[in-house]
Amino acid sequence: MPNSFVFDSNRCTGCDACRLACSIENGLGPDRSWRRVETFNPKRHPALPAYHLSLACNHCNEPACLYACPANAYRRDAHTGAVILEEEKCIGCRYCSWACPYDAPVFDSSRGVMSKCTFCNHRLVDGLEPACVALCPTGALGFADVAEPEIENEIDGFPATELGPRTVIVPLKEGRWLPVMSAPVVDPASAPGKAPDDDIRLRSEWPLAAFTSMLAVLVAALAAATLDSFDLSPAAFVGGAALILGLASLHLGKPFRAYRALLNLRRSWLSREVTAVTGFIALAAAQLLWFPGSWPLAAVAVGLGLTALICADYVYTVLRASAHPLTHSASVAWTGVFLAAVFAGVGPLAGAVGLGKLGLYVGRKLGFRRGGRPVRPAISLLRVGVGLVVPGLLWAVDPARFHELIVAAVVAGELVDRAEYYVELERIAPSRQMSIDLERRIAEGGANRDVPAPRPALAAID
Ligand code: SF4
Ligand code: SF4
Repeated sequence: MPNSFVFDSNRCTGCDACRLACSIENGLGPDRSWRRVETFNPKRHPALPAYHLSLACNHCNEPACLYACPANAYRRDAHTGAVILEEEKCIGCRYCSWACPYDAPVFDSSRGVMSKCTFCNHRLVDGLEPACVALCPTGALGFADVAEPEIENEIDGFPATELGPRTVIVPLKEGRWLPVMSAPVVDPASAPGKAPDDDIRLRSEWPLAAFTSMLAVLVAALAAATLDSFDLSPAAFVGGAALILGLASLHLGKPFRAYRALLNLRRSWLSREVTAVTGFIALAAAQLLWFPGSWPLAAVAVGLGLTALICADYVYTVLRASAHPLTHSASVAWTGVFLAAVFAGVGPLAGAVGLGKLGLYVGRKLGFRRGGRPVRPAISLLRVGVGLVVPGLLWAVDPARFHELIVAAVVAGELVDRAEYYVELERIAPSRQMSIDLERRIAEGGANRDVPAPRPALAAID
């Protein structure tokens, strides 16, 4: 059962046959494939090795995709070991593509679902090799029954994880700078079937930023109303709830299957978040509309709301963020507490959480400055000035008189911080790993190593 891909970087010429074989075998069309060929050191820094990596799903021992999927759309084939995505169960939330550090799940925008390599399970059950392996002309890509301790895949550009990826990688032999017979390296940006964009972009993820912020506002408003310190009308709550549900469904490829997001409570933070949000909205609406005097019902609803916010923070732990979500100034759980204190007029709590957020925000930006990452001073000024300093000053002058203004300023500041959070998130992916490893190798002095004389075959190609 422990089937594995075996990839020998000494033999891969970057001919792309494996990618094409995958497209043809799985009827994906010429521009789509579940396998792709990427290149380490694509511009051929002369003192560093250049090689290709043929990448697809590694059918990991601990598949992050399967654990993350809220809809239980993944399963493992007990006979072949393949991690299979059942597309008819997928809701198109794309969370598995965030969770997989190997960029294996590919979103099919025409059908609104995710798709990925099946290990050619249909061929395996017939005793055949995967199509990519069968068509590789140099024998670089192989397939074998490999025991756990024999799996080696530590190579620059291949993210090191605890997932147990079932791909054995044979690195370039000592002293070799390019694979034998290597074709001219293709610029990865223009290669067909290139790796999907590995950034989380605010332009595409803004519904999530708005959804999580609005959820914090609703939870805080209900908490303050439960303390009798805020007037929350049922119509305002129901309108806000409809808005956040609409925002959440904007993100789904298959919104009519959204109920499936409740199915993986045991393992998926996204599933837990969706379940807690559903319970929060249902109980809060019931309390406001039909049982306005029932504080126990309101308290349970607030508890579920806070749980939803904490789960929402944990959803992002599969990504590379500038800090853990709960110790990030944009944590929606802390935003919920902050806003509840502001809505209810509880000065000491609002002051303490606000100061904590200020400290986390400034600390992060100083870290960015030291690490050479963009600081965006104008945005920082907006976040701190409008969201923390102005409300603090107004509170000091007359909190009752300026209450609406304080609330508006704090909400605006939290929205800016949340938006920045999404801008700073990064997916872990081979293409990004290659850039990171290349920069590290150059910084370590790889550029000062002796450069071997070019092989005659390579000189001819160049
Ligand atoms: S490579 Fe990614 S998609 Fe494939 S099993 Fe591992 S985590 Fe899942
Ligand atoms: S439901 Fe979401 S996480 Fe599950 S397979 Fe579909 S896109 Fe991936």
